[in-house]
Amino acid sequence: MRFSEFGLTTLKEVPADAEIVSHKLMLRAGLIRRLASGLFTWMPLGLRVLRRVEAVVREEMDRAGALELLMPAVQPAELWQESGRWDKYGPLLLRMQDRHARDYCFGPTHEEVITDVARKELRSYKQLPINYYQIQTKFRDEIRPRFGVMRSREFIMKDAYSFDADQSGLDASYARMHTAYTAIFERLGLEFRVVDADSGEIGGSRSQEFHVLADSGEDAIAYSDADDYASNIESAATTPTASGYPEPSSELEKLATPGVKTIEALCKFLDIEPKQTLKTLIVEGSDGPVALLLRGDHELNSVKAQKIPGVASPLTLASPEAVVKVTGCGPGFVGPIGMDIPTFYDHATVGMSDFVCGGMEKNMHYVGINFGRDLPTPQTVDIRNVIEGDPTPGGKGRLSITRGIEVGHIFQLGTKYSEAMGATVQNPDGQNQVMAMGCYGIGITRIVGAAIEQNHDDAGIIWPAPLAPFDVVLVPINMHRSDEVKDAAEILYLELKAAGHEVLLDDRDVRPGVKFADAELIGIPHRLVISERGLAAGQLEYRYRRDSESRNLDREEALKQL
Ligand code: ATP
Ligand code: MG
Repeated sequence: MRFSEFGLTTLKEVPADAEIVSHKLMLRAGLIRRLASGLFTWMPLGLRVLRRVEAVVREEMDRAGALELLMPAVQPAELWQESGRWDKYGPLLLRMQDRHARDYCFGPTHEEVITDVARKELRSYKQLPINYYQIQTKFRDEIRPRFGVMRSREFIMKDAYSFDADQSGLDASYARMHTAYTAIFERLGLEFRVVDADSGEIGGSRSQEFHVLADSGEDAIAYSDADDYASNIESAATTPTASGYPEPSSELEKLATPGVKTIEALCKFLDIEPKQTLKTLIVEGSDGPVALLLRGDHELNSVKAQKIPGVASPLTLASPEAVVKVTGCGPGFVGPIGMDIPTFYDHATVGMSDFVCGGMEKNMHYVGINFGRDLPTPQTVDIRNVIEGDPTPGGKGRLSITRGIEVGHIFQLGTKYSEAMGATVQNPDGQNQVMAMGCYGIGITRIVGAAIEQNHDDAGIIWPAPLAPFDVVLVPINMHRSDEVKDAAEILYLELKAAGHEVLLDDRDVRPGVKFADAELIGIPHRLVISERGLAAGQLEYRYRRDSESRNLDREEALKQL
């Protein structure tokens, strides 16, 4: 490709609305342009990268024996009513009507459509196992689109769906996808980790996520220092670490704490640690508000909390008015003593003694509280996030926390959809049998952003070779004034193309500095500079994007670097 014919516009200024480096660089390098919130155009340069991601994904899916198909993006409401998700999916689902006022949605995922395909196409166990996949546009009306293509509303997903006669077949299909995903992310040159995950809206039992490790990742990942346990914090389990309660060593007392509404202010006021406090959160429940109680230094895990029977899902904090109504005091002073709504204590409250909590009265707190004496000893549940240093569920080691970007997710759905929608095959005994399903997603567009988060420097993007839009950029110096340089550049361009390289020839009549800056910004792995002086010595200047220095090499030697 000749730069002069490529229509690429790079930007010097950092776009104001871009928060993280990949989003900034994707805009600056001209990979994407924003249309509206969460909607992006993939410009020619960006599309080349996207196609390379797709190609790797497609190859590995094919290798794993999956069959590519293409389902409609627009889906009739009836299918979603059959599965029960029309009402459950909530505002992420973009709903619309056709001219006959019939309801549709723009697919955020395709379990319903593929189950409909399967119940019509698959009749006999002999057709199983089968795994269908597509690479297609999805729409999710995200509450907070951000980070460019990493959390957009319209995005491209590779989604695959396996059908098996039974659980052991599903286990094998799932394992094949685990292997294929590992191969995909290895081939893409990304540093990643596989973690246990929550199944979220899609449902089902076993699920694992593939995360590209990056500080800007939206997900926190807990992993063990002693074994291969790793889990998204959303689903990383905690267990009680203490078994009993120490004897009380202080009296229960109600103290005036004027204006002290936060744990931080309380600790400062009383000169104590957050772990000596108990915090009370009032959330909505199916029969009115519910209280969730945690140690002051712990964070509520909403994914776990919303699974507790009686707690509203999605988890919703009660309004300040509702809090006043059920507790008689405003937020900041709520506590368990005198509370008469359902209460759930986190496991880590076991073993707490002589602690502090809200006084159930404005500007008041209790100090010296003890279970057994001032409060009944509670049954506890797991409702907090794990933290650095927590024991692993296996008990062998300690947890560390890192951050990741979810680029892939594999699920065992079991019979959730096939049961609801009647997807059965005939088994060897001639009986109808509900099929076991798995589903497997990869965020094709998100991968591009995630790859940049992991591979960049101050000058711009550093593409892992398999993702690079071009393999090599040719930078002729003064090409428009030197026929010698021009001819050498043109010959090299054709020669490299003929050898199968994707080549960008920077034939623009601009200063060399501009060409160098753009080549670095767009992250082409190999750069060859062609100058009169070099040609006189039979040399080209070669630079690998990850190296800080360039080297003058004989022409043959330089070409070998590619
Ligand atoms: P997240 O937790 O990030 O919202 P999810 O768990 O809801 O994602 P899945 O239903 O597992 O997403 O979808 C499969 C894959 O699609 C994800 O692993 C992710 O890579 C990608 N993906 C999901 N939502 C988005 C989005 N809003 N923008 C870009 N990619 C997305
Ligand atoms: Mg997911």
